[in-house]
Amino acid sequence: MDILIPADKIRQRVGELASQVAADYAGRPVTIVGVLTGCLMFLADLVRHLDLPLRIGLIQASSYRGERTTPGDLHIDPALLPDVRGRHILLLDDILDTGRTLAALCEHLRRVGVASLKVGVLLRKVGRQVVPFEPDYCGFEIPDAFVVGYGLDYNDEHRHLPDILILPGPSEDGETRRQGDKETRTQKEK
Ligand code: 5GP
Ligand code: MG
Repeated sequence: MDILIPADKIRQRVGELASQVAADYAGRPVTIVGVLTGCLMFLADLVRHLDLPLRIGLIQASSYRGERTTPGDLHIDPALLPDVRGRHILLLDDILDTGRTLAALCEHLRRVGVASLKVGVLLRKVGRQVVPFEPDYCGFEIPDAFVVGYGLDYNDEHRHLPDILILPGPSEDGETRRQGDKETRTQKEK
């Protein structure tokens, strides 16, 4: 697989993002909420730079493709989310693609009643967004390729790889792959 972003570049950029986050929160408490499962490396690396009063929570979003749901409908599982009411939240995800997942998660968190909400993504695919969505922090803009590594998977594989790599394969498979993270979970939940 071809390396798109090597581990040392990721490390450097995550450090820069952490400096921005630290400056913006300026010592105020923050609850970092990671979107499972792709956020894990990004979250773990980012928080270790942050000298702030900090809580960590996790949230899961799965798209159901059952007969009674519209394709792409998101199911949000907040079982691992601490009480976020009245707290300053930084939502972290691995990649912003169409924007549907993050838009739905933001709506969910706002409905719960958070004090403030910012969003950080490690990657953002250029030209793929169908939902207007501007992250507050973005590591890298990348072309429309399917990427794995540094937390990102294909069928739950490759998450452990330290670089971000381009998964080779037929482009017509792109849509299935893009949903891979969510679909894999959906399969397990059935
Ligand atoms: P969105 O709702 O923005 O279309 O979907 C975002 C989610 O789709 C990401 O959190 C990730 O799970 C998955 N995704 C989108 N693009 C890629 C990609 O290139 N590689 C991997 N592994 N997952 C992706
Ligand atoms: Mg994801």
